[in-house]
Amino acid sequence: MTRLVVAVGGNALAADGTFEAQHRTVRETASSLADAVGNERLVVTHGNGPQVGNVLLEAEAADTPDRPLDVLVAETQASLGGLLQRHLDAALDRSVAALLTRVLVDTDDAAFDAPTKPVGPWYAEVEAERKPFETKRIGSGERPFRRVVASPEPTEVLDAEAVDVLLSSGQAVVCGGGGGIPLTRTVDGFDGVEAVVDKDHTTRLIAEAVDADRLVFLTDVSRAYLDYGTDDQRPIESVDAETARSYLEAGEFDEGSMAPKMRACAAFAEAGGEAVVADIDAVESALAGEAGTVVHPANNSDS
Ligand code: ADP
Ligand code: MG
Repeated sequence: MTRLVVAVGGNALAADGTFEAQHRTVRETASSLADAVGNERLVVTHGNGPQVGNVLLEAEAADTPDRPLDVLVAETQASLGGLLQRHLDAALDRSVAALLTRVLVDTDDAAFDAPTKPVGPWYAEVEAERKPFETKRIGSGERPFRRVVASPEPTEVLDAEAVDVLLSSGQAVVCGGGGGIPLTRTVDGFDGVEAVVDKDHTTRLIAEAVDADRLVFLTDVSRAYLDYGTDDQRPIESVDAETARSYLEAGEFDEGSMAPKMRACAAFAEAGGEAVVADIDAVESALAGEAGTVVHPANNSDS
């Protein structure tokens, strides 16, 4: 039986920012996925950028004691992963497991030298200076500062084998939320790490670990584009892995958003699979290979 891994973007779910809109999108996505998946084995991963941002805003507004980022990621695996589980379970003809998923990161990763990923509230300069974490001027106006954290690549998904076992037993699996709970190994266990891992990297590792046949990224744009954001932007319909790599090297995709997706797709295609980046509203046609950007192994049918 073939295996399908689908990543759902945190931004694509956030829609207009309300919980109701997010919940509706989860329900609709789950229902379309269930219609499209047939009897393929299914793994669903998800992002958590806007969701963990909301938790940080709430903590700041309520002035509650700080909780480390790894714990906040775990919270969003429960909240968003729990909704995905509930609605997939209702829509699919099989049971759905939701798995708290941990990843290992290397604290020697160069990402820790210059944290770049903005998270949480905006601060005025005086507030930013008093914060116990690194902040950076990101915008303009009265509150231009935000906390920045490292976004290292995960070296290992600690729960990948559990995903494989659940999948083999016939369950669908929700996992890898927010890129995974970032940990390092210590002599007697694990420490949480103040970092956020892009779910695109984690999704690729999970897809490899379960030997997936297809990988689909559902996001908030219809395709990956060349010259994105300019007057000459051109959608990429189909591309082989080697050409996708050359576009990556040419800087066609932004780091922190489309680049990790296309890198994951290229790596997956190099290993012989077919990967797709598509809009969350096009789930069914994306799964049928009729929407989005398809990254394929061989040198044929390029756009
Ligand atoms: P997700 O939550 O799905 O991971 P991201 O915001 O990380 O969403 O990635 C999707 C975003 O990537 C799009 O909204 C778009 O603004 C951005 N992007 C950057 N470069 C490109 C490109 N070349 N083609 C299409 N989208 C791009
Ligand atoms: Mg992203």
